[in-house]
Amino acid sequence: MAKSQSSVERNVALCYVRQSVTKDENDTNSPERQKANIQAVCDAKGWIPEWYEDTGGHKSGRTVKNRPAWLALINRLKDRDVVALVANDMSRLHRKGWRVGDLMEQLNELNIALTLAAPGKGHIDTSTINGRLLVQVGALFDEYYAEDVSAKARDSIRHRRKQGKYVGRVPFGTQRDSNGLLEPSHEGAWLMPNGTFQQGQPHEKPYPDAIWRRYFDAALRAMELYAAGDMGIARIAYKLDDEGWCYRTVQNTPRVFERDDVRRIIANWREYGGLLQTTRARNRPAYKDDDLSSVVLNPDQAVMPVDLLEQVAKVRYDRTQKPRRTKTHNVKMIYPLSVLVRCAHCSAEEDVQKRTATLQGYTTSAGIRRYRHSIGMKCTSGTRSVKESDLNGEFEKVLDHLIVNPEYMDLMQRIVTKDLNLDQHTESDNLEQQKAEAIAKCRHRLERAKFLFLEGDISKDEYLRTKKRNEEEIAHWLARTVKTQEIIIELISVLGTLTNLKRVWL
Ligand SMILES: [Zn+2]
Repeated sequence: MAKSQSSVERNVALCYVRQSVTKDENDTNSPERQKANIQAVCDAKGWIPEWYEDTGGHKSGRTVKNRPAWLALINRLKDRDVVALVANDMSRLHRKGWRVGDLMEQLNELNIALTLAAPGKGHIDTSTINGRLLVQVGALFDEYYAEDVSAKARDSIRHRRKQGKYVGRVPFGTQRDSNGLLEPSHEGAWLMPNGTFQQGQPHEKPYPDAIWRRYFDAALRAMELYAAGDMGIARIAYKLDDEGWCYRTVQNTPRVFERDDVRRIIANWREYGGLLQTTRARNRPAYKDDDLSSVVLNPDQAVMPVDLLEQVAKVRYDRTQKPRRTKTHNVKMIYPLSVLVRCAHCSAEEDVQKRTATLQGYTTSAGIRRYRHSIGMKCTSGTRSVKESDLNGEFEKVLDHLIVNPEYMDLMQRIVTKDLNLDQHTESDNLEQQKAEAIAKCRHRLERAKFLFLEGDISKDEYLRTKKRNEEEIAHWLARTVKTQEIIIELISVLGTLTNLKRVWL
């Protein structure tokens, strides 16, 4: 090439596609979806895509050596014509936080943009603190990172809508019959005498005094309370809790009501009234309901009394204030700890409540950044919100406690490497053998005790004691595996992530 190196045009985007287990092409994470998303980003930016694909086979992407294309891509990063690294989402890159940290540092040094292509992810600018922080936190909480999952899910919904398929969940407490029409669902939960809820079937009473609580009736009750017009949705949530109604999670487990559950039910008044779902309830604030007279419910297909629903719509409309400056609602403020921080008071009650309040970032009307407790949930803590700076300070303290002196990290790493090279086989073989022997012995003792008991040589009590002891020992051995090194490696990895997190946090 005749041009000098400095005049090489930077326009090549390294595009990475990965799929660990191949699924059908409608899958949200299918290589085709990833590629389509990535291509769109490259087109928009005027980049020339250069594809790297690790797709075949069922190997896990958790280790680098199963990802040859990824290694090739890394080697290509330092070339002068490379301007960006594009992947569909964070989980396409590395699964382990500290490697993402390393990757980010490398990209920063080379001045290469990291761009995520899944719709809703947007461009993460890794040259800013917030961008780096998002990537770090995202990587650290990768598998729990709801935003990531929901962005992919939204992408999938868009895809299915384009294909003209029915999309969306039915309103709470309802189901679709064979013609696709809404009907009350028979599902519900048992309210136990101690106030907890239990999953079950209406005809199988788990306890004499248990009461069957149908989800549909809970929704109906919420509508009635709202239609009365003298209660806000948070108070309705408390009231439903007091009356022993329950909501349910997407995993189908019953839990007590909270404000947002009530809000969703109320917002779905059209669907309960037999109209087709147009947009999601959460995207349909009450102030968009202005022309109430133009909404005609369909009594033939309604699952709730139409006059009740009309009353609900009226209360909802009367109560709503139209936002004066709708623009402000579109400003996205970044609160890195939103939803990640949970309420300690609530989590102490989690067994009973089946939910825990999180803290969510918000900006007060005076422009102060705070985190607040989930609304409409009873909590023993009197404090409902906290200044962002205070929470950040606490978070830094936690980080400081968790971070290990780099010298110790080196030491740990050396110990692991040594073990891996020299002792792995002997240790694992020994342990496996020891385990098999111990379990065999326990089984033998069990058999013998049973024999002695049947022969009348030992008492029933003694037999049961022996049985229990040996069964416990077997369970203990079964739980023990050669995971020591893996655990230490994981630990080092987590510590590395924390150190990186701390670096970008400050
Ligand atoms: Zn709480």
